[in-house]
Amino acid sequence: MPAYKRILLKLSGEALMGDDAYGINRATIVRMVQEVREITQMGVEVAVVIGGGNIFRGVAGGSVGMDRATADYMGMLATVMNSLALADTMRQEGITARVMSAIAIEQVVEPYVRPKALQYLEEGKVVVFAAGTGNPFFTTDTAAALRGAEIGAEIVLKATKVDGVYSADPKKDPEATRYSRITFDEAISKNLQVLDATAFALCRDQKLPIKVFSIFKQGALKRVVMGEDEGTLVHV
Ligand code: UDP
Repeated sequence: MPAYKRILLKLSGEALMGDDAYGINRATIVRMVQEVREITQMGVEVAVVIGGGNIFRGVAGGSVGMDRATADYMGMLATVMNSLALADTMRQEGITARVMSAIAIEQVVEPYVRPKALQYLEEGKVVVFAAGTGNPFFTTDTAAALRGAEIGAEIVLKATKVDGVYSADPKKDPEATRYSRITFDEAISKNLQVLDATAFALCRDQKLPIKVFSIFKQGALKRVVMGEDEGTLVHV
């Protein structure tokens, strides 16, 4: 039995790159979608927020020197591209998905309307939230926390490259250990980076737990959804 009925999965844009330098790696996105399919087949309602860092970020790379808000809008448009790619791969893999955008681009995707999103989830469709929060100066982590709270997700699953939250950077410190579970307050006092500060505060206020895990570990998503000791659970 899955541990959750409804989840919000946050995928970073970089998760779609695979070993490529930028953009969307075909084999990687297909594998990711297959992992999502596995949990939808278990009856879990899945909403996804996808980042855009594989294409454009408002604070790095090609955006240096740009007006911040303009660059952020470009970043949000990048998440729309990723959302379309993700939803289309889902279609190819037999999942019914709907993309909803926080920025109106009606000819391309439908706008985000909360009751509609809830209806899709109840119908067993995967909902992909595009364009982040729709506002500059935010991140897709914050969009994940926000939409997660709005749709009544039981948990935000933050898929990263690392398989959880560690006591130190595991790449630099061989003594670093993974936390199996940790409270919001402990994460703050130990100065551990789980989500960006705004997203973290929102989850904490809403008592919305977060699970940090690696999307690159085969079957990890399913183990997380089954409530197994995979990654790090951040709880109240
Ligand atoms: N962004 C934004 N507002 C949001 C979400 C995203 O302005 O609510 C912009 C921001 O410029 C960000 C970019 O979109 O750098 C891509 O999102 P993010 O960096 O969160 O993607 P990820 O790191 O997860 O790939």
